Amino acid sequence: MTGGPHSTRTTCPYCGVGCGVKAMPDGDGGAAIAGDEAHPANFGRLCSKGSALGETLSLEGRLLHPMMRGDDGVLGRVSWDAALDRVAEGFFRAIAEHGPDSVAFYLSGQLLTEDYYAPNKLMKGFIGSANVDTNSRLCMASSVAGHRRAFGADIVPGAYEDLDEADLLVLVGSNAAWCHPILYQRMQTARERGALIVNVDVRRTATSEGADIDLTIAPGSDAALFSGLLVHLADHGLIDRAFVDERTSGFEAALAQARLIAPNIAAVAAATACAPETIAHVFDLWARSARVVTLYSQGVNQSAQGTDKVNAILNCHLATGRIGLPGAGPFSLTGQPNAMGGREVGGLANQLAAHMAFDTASIDRVRRFWNAPAMATREGLKAVDLFDAVADGRIKALWVMGTNPAVSMPRADAVRAALQRLDLLVVSDNLIATDTTQSGAHVLLPAAAWGEKDGTVTNSERRISRQRAFLPLPGEVRPDWWAVAQVARRLGHGEAFAWRGPADIFREHAALSAFENDGTRDFDIGGLAAIDDAAYDALEPVQWPVRSGQPGGTARLFGDGGRFFHADGKARFVPVAAPALAAATDAAFPLILVTGRIRDQWHTMTRTGKSARLGSHLPEPFLDVHPIDALRLGLSERGFARVESAHGGATLRVRITAQQEPGLVFAPIHWSGQTSVGGRIGAAVQGFADPVSGQPEMKATPVAVHPVSFVTQGFALTRALPRLERCGFLAHATVKGGTLTTFASDASHDALLAMLAPLFGGAAPTMDYSDPARGLRRLAWLDGERIEALLFLGPGGTAPDWNAAAAAFATGEIAPAARALLLSGKPVDGIADSGPTICACFGIGRGAIEAAIAGGCGTVAAIGAALKAGTNCGSCVPELKKLIAQAGGAAEGTPARVAADAA
Ligand code: SF4
Repeated sequence: MTGGPHSTRTTCPYCGVGCGVKAMPDGDGGAAIAGDEAHPANFGRLCSKGSALGETLSLEGRLLHPMMRGDDGVLGRVSWDAALDRVAEGFFRAIAEHGPDSVAFYLSGQLLTEDYYAPNKLMKGFIGSANVDTNSRLCMASSVAGHRRAFGADIVPGAYEDLDEADLLVLVGSNAAWCHPILYQRMQTARERGALIVNVDVRRTATSEGADIDLTIAPGSDAALFSGLLVHLADHGLIDRAFVDERTSGFEAALAQARLIAPNIAAVAAATACAPETIAHVFDLWARSARVVTLYSQGVNQSAQGTDKVNAILNCHLATGRIGLPGAGPFSLTGQPNAMGGREVGGLANQLAAHMAFDTASIDRVRRFWNAPAMATREGLKAVDLFDAVADGRIKALWVMGTNPAVSMPRADAVRAALQRLDLLVVSDNLIATDTTQSGAHVLLPAAAWGEKDGTVTNSERRISRQRAFLPLPGEVRPDWWAVAQVARRLGHGEAFAWRGPADIFREHAALSAFENDGTRDFDIGGLAAIDDAAYDALEPVQWPVRSGQPGGTARLFGDGGRFFHADGKARFVPVAAPALAAATDAAFPLILVTGRIRDQWHTMTRTGKSARLGSHLPEPFLDVHPIDALRLGLSERGFARVESAHGGATLRVRITAQQEPGLVFAPIHWSGQTSVGGRIGAAVQGFADPVSGQPEMKATPVAVHPVSFVTQGFALTRALPRLERCGFLAHATVKGGTLTTFASDASHDALLAMLAPLFGGAAPTMDYSDPARGLRRLAWLDGERIEALLFLGPGGTAPDWNAAAAAFATGEIAPAARALLLSGKPVDGIADSGPTICACFGIGRGAIEAAIAGGCGTVAAIGAALKAGTNCGSCVPELKKLIAQAGGAAEGTPARVAADAA
C-alpha cells in the first residue's frame, strides 16, 4: 500500500515502539523517509534512528549472493542450490547421527513474523526438536514468563493510548528517552497536561531529564521496591477487594512473602538505598493515582531475577485492579521491532506456536494442524544453554538468522569460540562481515534487508503492522522464509512449506492461532486468516486479538471483566523471591557493570553504523564511571580503562560522570570486532540466567576496572575504511564523507603511518606537520583541493579533538588559502567547530548549543528557535535540558524542580 504518490507505508525496523514510516524511493537504491501520520504508534513522528533510515540503505558491505567455505577454508561464492544442498545435507547428517536435538536455529527479533514462522515450523513439527531460540531471549523473556505466570498467557494488557490517559507514569529499568524515544515523547506530552513521571533506575539517564522523581535504586532491588509497595497498599486499605476476590487467586501468599521481603518503608529504603521520604512519596503517589501505568523494559528483564521483578510489578496492579483500564496497567516495553511477533509464532524454545505451550493437548493440536510427522514434545534449549550446548558439542549444526551472537551474547568470547566448533554453522544475514559470519561460518545466505523485506511485525502494544518492501531484492538476496522452505523441501517436507509468498504464511499463522481456540487462548488473529493477497497488502495496523468477526482488534484486555487465561479464568499473584544479585562483587571484581543502549545506535550497528548523522553522537565505546570511583581507580576523563570480569574484558574510553552511581560502571552494547578493537563489552558480561525465563543477567556483572595508557592517541579521517593494527583501542564511526577512526596504540608514529599508507597506494602525504617536543604529528593527503585523508597523532595522555578536522573533511575540499589551518586542529575559516553532534536531525553540535545558551537561550524552545535543534524528532531534548541545567539555567521539568513542587 502506498502513502501517497511514490511512497510506501511501512514500519521502522528498530525498537518495539513500531513507528509507521513512509518511504519514497529515489529510483537509485535510496529513499526519502518520513513518519507516517496515519500510524497510531507515532502519528508521523520519528526519532533520530528512524529519521536516518534513508542513510542506511546502501549496498556497501552487503552479502549479495550465497557463500560457502571450501576445502581451503576460504568462503567463496556459490549458487543457491549448492548452498541449500549443503545446509540440508549438514542438518540431515547431524539428525541422522546424533538425533534431532543436535541441530538448532538461533533467530532474531529483527525477523518478520513470516520469516520467524518458517524455521519454527520446520524445527518443532518436522525435525522433532524445539531448539529454536532467539535474541529476544536477551530482551524480554522475563516479561513473557511473568505474564504467563500472572495472566496464564503472554499478554501486554494495555495500549499506548493509556499514556495519554494516565495520571502517573512509572518507568522501571527503562531509558525510554533513548530506547523508546517516540513513546517517551508521548509521555512528555502527558506530563505537559499534568501527569507525573517517576523514573526508577540504577543510574541517571536521559530519561531522568524528563522525570518528576528520579528514584535511583540499588541494583537488583526492584522486587523489594514493588514488594514494599504491595505491603503499603495493603496496610493503607488500598486493595481492590472485589477485584482480588473475584478475579484473582494467591493474594495472601504473595502479600505474606512481600512482608518478609519489605515489611515497611524503612526496609524498602534499606534495600533500595533510597531515602525513606522519597520511597514514601512514590508509594503515596502510586497509591492515590487510580490511573497509573508502570512501564518496564531491559532493566527489569535482563536480570537473574527478572521474572520475579515482573511479577512484583504485576502483583501491585492486580491488587488494585488497575489493569486493562484506560490509563491504568502494567506495560512491558519490548526492545526489538518484532520481539512480539517472534513470541506469537513460537520463536522461543519454551513456546510451541501461536502462544501455545508444550502441554499434551497443544502438542497434539499443532501436530494435527501442521500434519506434522515429527512433533517436538518438550521445550528446547534457551539461548544461554543453547550456546553452552554448542560449546560442549551437543549441538552440531546451527542456523543463525539476523543476529550477531558473537557480539551480543553474554560471555561473547566463549560464544565466538564455540561457534568455531560446529560441524555446520549457517548464517543468514544482510552483511558479509559480522563477528558471527567471521566465526567460522560454513555457509552464508544473503537475507533481505529492511526496505526489501515484506511481511508483518508486532509492536509493544500488540499492534500488527505491515513492513512493506519498497526496494527490489538486490543481487541474489532472498527472504529468510524462502531459504527455510527450500531446505525443508530438500529434507522431504516440500508440501508443508509450499508457500508462494508471505501472505500465504500469514494466513497459515492466523489460522493456527484460531484453530480450536474458541476464546480459550489469548493469541487469536483468526479474523485475518482468510484475507486475500490484496487485503494482506493493504492491512492497516491492528491490535490482536483479532478474533473472527472482530476485525477491528482489541485495544485492551482484562479491564472489562474479561477472563484471564488460567484454567479458572483468574489471574495469579506470584510470591517473589527475596532480591539477590546473581554474583556478588568481591576484592577481585569490586564494581558492577551495567550494559545498555545509546540514543543513536542499534544493536551491533550493522545498519545504524552506516549513517553519518547517527555516528557523530557518540562515536566511541565508552565506560561511564562516577568521579569517586575514577579518583580511586586513577582514571582520567577521556583516558582509557580496561574492564575485566571472570569471563573476558573490553578496553573503553573513560567518561567521568555523576550520572553514574559509585560502585557501578556503564558500557554500551553496540561495538563489535568490526567497528572496534576492544569494544565488545559482551565479552565481559556474565551468563547467569533467570531460572524461570532463561534470560541472562546483563545489568550486574562483577568487574574490575584498571586505567590503561598508550604511547600514542590519534584519529584518522579517511574516505575508505582503514585497517589499523597494533591498536589497543580503536573505533570506527561513519562521518560525513567517510570514516572517522579514533585509536590509541603503543606503535610509533611511523608505524601507524605505514599501516594507513595502503589507502593511498603508498603516496606520501601532501602536508606533514610535526612537533617532536609536544609529541604531535599531523598529516593530510590532498588531491588538488580535495581532502583525501587526515591523520592526527599525539601523545598518549591527550586525545586530539577530531571535530574541527571532521568539519573540514565533510566539506570535501579545502581552499589553498585555508590549508595552513587544516592541520591546526582549529576550525578552518568559515567552518564552525561545533563539537560532538547533539541534534542528529539538523547536525547541531554541542558547541553551537552551548553558545546559544550562553547567548540567552534558556529553554529548549529558545534553542529550537535559534538553531532548530530539538524541533524535529525530539530525541535530543533530554540532552538540551541537561546542557541548560549545566549552564545554570532552569531546564524545564527537571526532577529537582518538580520534587520541590511535590514537597
Ligand atoms: Fe523507530 Fe525510533 Fe520509532 Fe523506535 S521510536 S520505532 S527507533 S522511529
